Amino acid sequence: MNKFFNKRRKSSCIYVGNIPVGSDYPISVQSMTNTNTFDVKQTVNQINKLKLNGADIIRISIPSMDAAESFKKIRSSTKNIPLVADIHFDYRIALKVAEYGVDCIRINPGNIGNIRRIKMLVDCAKYYNIPIRIGVNSGSLEYELRNKYNKVISAEVLFESVMRQVNIFDKLNFSYFKVSVKSSDVLTTIKAYKLVAQSIDQPLHIGVTETGTTRIGITKSAIGVGTLLMEGIGDTIRVSLTDDPVNEVKVAFDILRSLHLRYRGINFITCPTCCRQEFNVIKIVNNLEKRLQDITTPINVSIIGCIVNGLGEALRSDIGVVGGKKNSSLYINGIRQPNKIENNNIVNYLELIVRSKTNTYIK
Ligand code: SF4
Repeated sequence: MNKFFNKRRKSSCIYVGNIPVGSDYPISVQSMTNTNTFDVKQTVNQINKLKLNGADIIRISIPSMDAAESFKKIRSSTKNIPLVADIHFDYRIALKVAEYGVDCIRINPGNIGNIRRIKMLVDCAKYYNIPIRIGVNSGSLEYELRNKYNKVISAEVLFESVMRQVNIFDKLNFSYFKVSVKSSDVLTTIKAYKLVAQSIDQPLHIGVTETGTTRIGITKSAIGVGTLLMEGIGDTIRVSLTDDPVNEVKVAFDILRSLHLRYRGINFITCPTCCRQEFNVIKIVNNLEKRLQDITTPINVSIIGCIVNGLGEALRSDIGVVGGKKNSSLYINGIRQPNKIENNNIVNYLELIVRSKTNTYIK
């Protein structure tokens, strides 16, 4: 943890499958499938794709008992991937997926029902030794709380919803859980997590919910999740985007990398471009990003359009290109290489160098 951060909040630890969440363990990255759970093949494919892109934990919506039967098949094809079942309204579905090997159950206090049903769930979690996530969401708060506060969903109201559930778990002598308290408003989200963070010991799953389109969703998540992480709050993250969930995972790693909390894949250092650029930086970088998306080894690659900022960045990068007329200079580990790269061959050449440095093969 560096000097810009508050010390990470101390929390207990739970295991979602083989992934530890909380304590001093690395901040894990989550996403959620958006395929139809009944389509086992498509869902398994998406789970594998998310895993390939770095997701540590994957959540699946289980809307019915029939979906629980699909889950059974999905589970048998994804044995080593931690899966969380998203359960709303019908607690019996949770009991079923627990029997089929789910690694965590997410419940929403707003719609899971009375204490008798919660007790059944808790007994089930105890029996299978799996954690529960209390997932409070501004869009689905308990009816009583919505009415009590005249539909104004402040951070304090979200906090109250969490604590009602936590108190029930306390009475049932159950502490193996994590909490999320998401709002679609960034500042409300931050405040709600701060309130929860100082009131319980359990790990926190952080994220901003219902963030909007990809562009604004990334911005809201970077601010919300980034701010909380800098405050030392957060043990596992999900970036919610109205987009392909693979992008959620990529953005989550971008946030963690930006805060020097976890590194995965290429960190591109590229300039915004201007009329000084000696080659088309935007085109080259976009092309390379696509070609190199399979790289998981952390590596810094600077591609800068001219000497103004190019040299300084190249000297600090694993691989650096400094734009020159027709040919550009190449730096490896901060050392200028004797041969220049032809500007019209930068993409091919850089791909080869990055792959050689990361021991990967062209797909
Ligand atoms: S590094 Fe050069 S090309 Fe890139 S924005 Fe700066 S001045 Fe322009």
